[in-house]
Amino acid sequence: MSRSREGDKAVTSVDVVIVGAGFAGLSAAERLVSMGKSVRVVEGRDRVGGRSLTGEVAGVKVDLGATWVSRRHTAIRGLADRVGCTTTDQFAQGRNILWMAGKRRTYSGTIPKVSPLALVDMARVQSALAKLVSTIDIDAAWESPRANELDAISFGQWLDQKHAMSATRALMTVVSKVQWGCTPGDVSLLHALRYIRAAGGVDHMLDVEGGQQQERYLQTTHEVAKRLADRLGDCVALGSPVRRIVQDGAGITVHTDAQTIAASYAIVTAAPAHRADIAFEPALPETAEGLVRVWRMGVLSKAFVAYDTPFWRAAGLSGEAVTDTGTVFITFDVSADSAGPGILMAFCDPRVFDGFSPDLRRRHVIAQLVDLYGEQAASPIDYLDHCWGSEPFAPGGPNPAVAPKATVAYGKALTEPHGRVHWAGTETAGEWAGCMNGAVLTGQRSAERIGVLLSSESRQEALR
Ligand SMILES: Cc1cc2nc3c(=O)[nH]c(=O)nc-3n(C[C@H](O)[C@H](O)[C@H](O)COP(=O)(O)OP(=O)(O)OC[C@H]3O[C@@H](n4cnc5c(N)ncnc54)[C@H](O)[C@@H]3O)c2cc1C
Repeated sequence: MSRSREGDKAVTSVDVVIVGAGFAGLSAAERLVSMGKSVRVVEGRDRVGGRSLTGEVAGVKVDLGATWVSRRHTAIRGLADRVGCTTTDQFAQGRNILWMAGKRRTYSGTIPKVSPLALVDMARVQSALAKLVSTIDIDAAWESPRANELDAISFGQWLDQKHAMSATRALMTVVSKVQWGCTPGDVSLLHALRYIRAAGGVDHMLDVEGGQQQERYLQTTHEVAKRLADRLGDCVALGSPVRRIVQDGAGITVHTDAQTIAASYAIVTAAPAHRADIAFEPALPETAEGLVRVWRMGVLSKAFVAYDTPFWRAAGLSGEAVTDTGTVFITFDVSADSAGPGILMAFCDPRVFDGFSPDLRRRHVIAQLVDLYGEQAASPIDYLDHCWGSEPFAPGGPNPAVAPKATVAYGKALTEPHGRVHWAGTETAGEWAGCMNGAVLTGQRSAERIGVLLSSESRQEALR
């Protein structure tokens, strides 16, 4: 890495500049550094980790963003191993709660105990969904055999066409809110199928045991990112939103407010909607412009309520609840220890929740936990929440809520390089798109592609 000054700005020269210090950006940097390349990672926030962030409730560190990994998420697990972070099983012993249409029931397993007719309906709809999922091209969903037809309607319209019963629809609404940060009516069926395929199928996406919610990191997922950034050292620049990327045939210049970085290549890991904040010169081609305009992010909020002990465990409850009433729609037990403090994590519907004052948000969550878990839930020792839609920089998550028609129209622009600008980030993944594992894989993949390009350019240079 070399440094000089241009007017008021420091000018740095590196092989590759990486935009974003989430799992994709940090993984790209790790791989390029291991190949002997010089890198600069520029992050707009004043922290690394992107959609992964640690909070603290009753003295216990909790994941405000990304939380769980499956046993099949080998890329993020490998990274976490390298930096000394370890997993613990998601607590899932005991019965789950279902609060639907004003009725509270308990059940065990993934599928709620509803009427036999509703159970049959859920199995029918899930099987129809699984059939469609199996037709999706994992690397190019927009080229799947019935892509146009599947992208023409929303997931909600498909549920209507299937005459899904209310319990099935309620379960699918929970899935949609957690995965895409929107209701089924707001997301394209093709986009939903692409993400379900990427997540290893319906069962793997929904399950705790043997599924995506199986384990979480004792040190938090954000700690994984922080430790990797610490290893990378001063090549990671925080508080540096990239404003402009200029390229000519020979190289690329990335501009932040304080720095100009000259490089051979750039890897942009910002989610598609956030690419819109960067001015590209030359401008992005039409399809890539369209992608950044219409692939808006979904939104999701999380609350954590701490108690002296996980009292629900003594009552034979797992801490997992699904509800169709109020702003909380699903809860999990994320206690660090069975001796306490007991911590319930609640996913909250941001469309109402984010409009409340902090005090009202707290009161609504606790009132719902009382409905679900009884009077003991009325006396928490601590509370914390986080609204991803209200983040001041790069807001939203967990994933884009892509409307009908926009996957076929713009999907191919997710990964198509723009000259010397390459794209990474979980949205650009095939397998495991939408989770940390996908992010790590895309960072590593783009680093390898650029490593090959750099080597062939230096061979050509040597021959001249
Ligand atoms: C509430 C929530 C729950 C989740 N739960 C899980 C889970 O349990 N398991 C799981 O695997 N995944 C989960 N995810 C998804 C997971 O967080 C993401 O898939 C993953 O972190 C994405 O990593 P990334 O590097 O691709 O993108 P990001 O983490 O978004 O990183 C991109 C970075 O680019 C930066 N950036 C954007 N624009 C610019 C710019 N102009 N200049 C400089 N920097 C810029 C952003 O600030 C950001 O830090 C969850 C996400 C949320 C929000």
